[in-house]
Amino acid sequence: MAKKTLKDIDVKGKKVFVRVDYNVPFDENLNITNDTRMVRTLPTINYLLDNGAAVILACHIGRPTEAREDKFSTKHLVKHLSELLKKDVKWAADCVGPEAEKAAADLKPGEVLLLENLRYHKEEKKNDPEFAKQLASLADVAVDDAFGVSHRAHASNAGVPKYIETVAGFLMEKEINYIGNTLENAQHPFVAIIGGAKVSDKIGVISNMIDKVDTIIIGGGMAHTFDAAKGLPIGDSLCEPDKYDLARELLKKAEDKGVKVVLPVDLVIADKFAADANTKTVPVDQVPDGWQALDSGVKTSEEYTKALAGAKTVIWNGPMGVFEFDAFAKGTLAVAKAVAKATDEGAVSIVGGGDSVAALKKTGLTEKISHVSTGGGATLEYLEGKEMPGIAALADK
Ligand code: AMP
Repeated sequence: MAKKTLKDIDVKGKKVFVRVDYNVPFDENLNITNDTRMVRTLPTINYLLDNGAAVILACHIGRPTEAREDKFSTKHLVKHLSELLKKDVKWAADCVGPEAEKAAADLKPGEVLLLENLRYHKEEKKNDPEFAKQLASLADVAVDDAFGVSHRAHASNAGVPKYIETVAGFLMEKEINYIGNTLENAQHPFVAIIGGAKVSDKIGVISNMIDKVDTIIIGGGMAHTFDAAKGLPIGDSLCEPDKYDLARELLKKAEDKGVKVVLPVDLVIADKFAADANTKTVPVDQVPDGWQALDSGVKTSEEYTKALAGAKTVIWNGPMGVFEFDAFAKGTLAVAKAVAKATDEGAVSIVGGGDSVAALKKTGLTEKISHVSTGGGATLEYLEGKEMPGIAALADK
């Protein structure tokens, strides 16, 4: 069912509780090293401010203990957020209780208040009703723009909607539109590219994708478990022997459903796991002992590119090799180029989950993709087809 968004409610003169995902990385001096998650909430916040709302932002950082470690305080976000919004951001040293209540009560239309880390209270992750009620009491209405936590039922996203109407912010709406709608109504040919380190992390995604796609490209470290399950020699390549049966089952499921599976035909192998390893390219059935595959070969990239030509929908999760080392980033770059080309030619492309966004960034082709998801675990679970409590709790249209 379609969910209400910001555009469906009147926010003028209202206090609006906005759940955002500002769980951003910091360096040792507590400087923010990647502010993408903050930047992508600006349309929601600016819309609310422009439309006469008082904005109360709530988020979490890290996994604080009862001790409320200072490094997890949201006060380290205030300066940068003020710069991004080009206005003062007020800050409350707690997210509930007298200080938060007073700061929220004093907040005027056009002003922004950032609350202290929600996870300084263990009740947040427990989805405690009393805690959710206290959060909700700060505002008249709520907006959820924290797609990155929508796979969890926490007080701020699944609890608050029980007390005040909660609608999707623009970022959440975009994630739902791209990922949710694509999974339900994809244009064909639909190609999924699944890479990354481990099969065990991606079983759910692969299985769900086989139900929906025409072609599935399997690459990266996980491909070697499939190769080994088929009896191919894999040398010292990454492998999960306890997943051989599962790999065979997934291949069988694909065959039964008429889904084409594209696995590597050649591999870049290395004599050690290092940027300066000796390397060579070999056919997939000729990986010698003592060597490990760390990237797909040129012929494989050609196969992947062929499989992506003419696609109308592409979902990509996980790199094709150890992209962190330049020597093993070529396979991932080739896929990024093929996805960018398909997008130029009219495909809807979605990249997200795990390390995919970092891998894409390294290729320099991020701008070419239709939608780069802000979620890590959330994107994976959405692609697995699991119910998302943070989305389910939003008001229906
Ligand atoms: P994920 O978070 O599941 O998307 O996995 C990303 C990680 O998989 C990256 O750190 C890659 O270096 C790693 N990876 C990809 N291909 C291989 C490979 N052939 N051998 C070892 N690690 C790999």
